[in-house]
Amino acid sequence: MAEHESLEFGKADFVLMDNVCMEDFMANLKLRFEKGRIYSYIGEVVVSVNPYRAMNIYGRDAVEQYRNRELYERPPHLFAIADAAYKAMKRRNKDTCIVISGESGAGKTEASKYIMQYIAAITNPNQRAEVERVKNMLLKSNCVLEAFGNAKTNRNDNSSRFGKYMDINFDFKGDPIGGHISNYLLEKVRGPYAQGPSCSGALGCAKYYTTLSSINDGADFKAVADAMKVIGFTSEETLTAYKILATTLHLGNLTFGVDGDVILIQNPKVVSVIGELLSTPEDNVEKALLFRTVATGRDVIDKQHTAQEAGYGRDALAKAMYERLFCWIVGRINDVIEVKNYDARVHGKNTVIGVLDIYGFEIFQNNSFEQFCINYCNEKLQQLFIQLVLKQEQEEYQREGIPWKHIDYFNNQIIVDLVEQQHKGIFSVLDEACMNVGKVTDEVFLQGLNGKLAKHVHYTSRKVGRNRNLYSVVGFIDKNKDTLFQDFKRLLYNSSNPVFKAMWPEGKLRITEVTKRPLTAATLFKNSMISLVENLACKEPYYVRCIKPNDVKSPLLFEQERCRHQVEYLGLLENVRVRRAGFAYRQTYPRFLQRYKMISEFTWPNHDLPSDREAVKRLLQGCGFDHDVAYGKTKVFVRTPRTLFSLEAQRADM
Ligand code: ADP
Ligand code: MG
Repeated sequence: MAEHESLEFGKADFVLMDNVCMEDFMANLKLRFEKGRIYSYIGEVVVSVNPYRAMNIYGRDAVEQYRNRELYERPPHLFAIADAAYKAMKRRNKDTCIVISGESGAGKTEASKYIMQYIAAITNPNQRAEVERVKNMLLKSNCVLEAFGNAKTNRNDNSSRFGKYMDINFDFKGDPIGGHISNYLLEKVRGPYAQGPSCSGALGCAKYYTTLSSINDGADFKAVADAMKVIGFTSEETLTAYKILATTLHLGNLTFGVDGDVILIQNPKVVSVIGELLSTPEDNVEKALLFRTVATGRDVIDKQHTAQEAGYGRDALAKAMYERLFCWIVGRINDVIEVKNYDARVHGKNTVIGVLDIYGFEIFQNNSFEQFCINYCNEKLQQLFIQLVLKQEQEEYQREGIPWKHIDYFNNQIIVDLVEQQHKGIFSVLDEACMNVGKVTDEVFLQGLNGKLAKHVHYTSRKVGRNRNLYSVVGFIDKNKDTLFQDFKRLLYNSSNPVFKAMWPEGKLRITEVTKRPLTAATLFKNSMISLVENLACKEPYYVRCIKPNDVKSPLLFEQERCRHQVEYLGLLENVRVRRAGFAYRQTYPRFLQRYKMISEFTWPNHDLPSDREAVKRLLQGCGFDHDVAYGKTKVFVRTPRTLFSLEAQRADM
């Protein structure tokens, strides 16, 4: 419990609720939001509600308040969790990670920035130049990724379209010496046609695009350009990055028509602009858009697209260029920030804090492949969360010598298996449908599912009942195959701009040499999720759960129903239950005494018992709470919150 807050702001820790029920949870969350308390705890989990206004709680003085304190000593804050993760790493030599989840616009990326800012502020007291350089790189890389990874969607002005995981490596002194970034499933499908603010400014400056309406962010543009320079992108590379964004925008304007049986491009001027951007003859661009080279036996022929195929190819090209650009940028950043020449025998163990910024469950009216992937990812993270929280609890009880009592919880491994299992899982069925000889349609996929999974308790087909998460199979096949015609790869590889050539090495292959089928989107995503979870599982996790209070970016509006929905699928109530199943509250003996010694004659103002442990025992026996607590080696554990309230009340009466 955060001991420096009065109850007028509601309960700082949900574990202390009188009753664990949705109604009380929501009432407390709302009260705190309205009182400007955007952070709360569930034990050691931070619950954050996006304030949609500047909060004066992240300054140097705040850093000092949280630095080297225990979680419960100060009001809930991101800095407290960052400090806890940092301390665990430094004191116990443990790799830790901070998992930040929530829906788009809930405040995940802002939270990850404050966490990084805190870590930057508390490290490198000796101002070592190399460490300062690394810190600067890490912060700058964030800026570049944000600029290229974000888009203006209608849900959020600055929404990240990617899940990002960043490892920060520390040396034995606890100072950052490098990092590594992984990115997950760029939401290509919502895609590159809506670019972020800094990028539009950039395009204006690159003089390739004149019709953008809002070029009012020159400052952002400059910051991104500077950051790219610091990271080591050459000006040619930076310019090419902007050319790629411009190309994707122009592709979005391209339309096809038919004249008799000949397909044509209705706005050929656009093609010439694209040719210029890609440093490629205009004719080649046109050919790649309208024809497909196919090998039939020994012959290679040019097969004309239908208008529909051409449209598909155009969209696939835009998506692929954008995705390749983003991965290329991440790769370049990693080259620069990766730890080099670290010799553990000389410098001691190199430890890591990982920060994961990833979208939470997404449930819309219409849910498709993207939502399916995102929700699968969250099922996996949820599974890990429950396992790890229980494990953490169990370990603490063991350390403290307190008997462990088994806790029941919903094990969602069965859902995870339904999706990812070899042969029988939904992803496998999808891949199979994609490789079908003959018809490859979403309908075939659905038949496959119904055939294989009809009996699964968590699988329902079509519009049966009022299932909460219903997905439409429409588009699954295309999105999973994620085909980019070879012709485009060759087009880009043959550009006279060496940056394109480097980005598209597979374009070197001639049509007759291409044999391997690329991995499907589902398989790639599944593999990256499995390795992510493996990576997180060996770290000590800390969690931030972000909630978006309304859809209109208002600092005043707490939309009850919307928030309830999020609390539900973030599993926060279950979180409270798991946390309370054991002991609601624990505190080291000296700190417990510091707080409550005035309520007992045996401990006030000082005790003469042989240990603080004995003193706490005597104090609690005196109040009649002995039955509700357990005495560990270094901490006292209180089972029910009521006991704690009562102690607080007695303390206040003194
Ligand atoms: P997400 O990454 O979850 O999609 P963001 O972190 O980008 O969401 O937050 C969306 C917007 O909400 C930000 O651009 C900012 O305006 C506002 N916001 C989020 N967190 C805070 C905060 N702690 N203080 C002030 N504004 C915030
Ligand atoms: Mg984000």
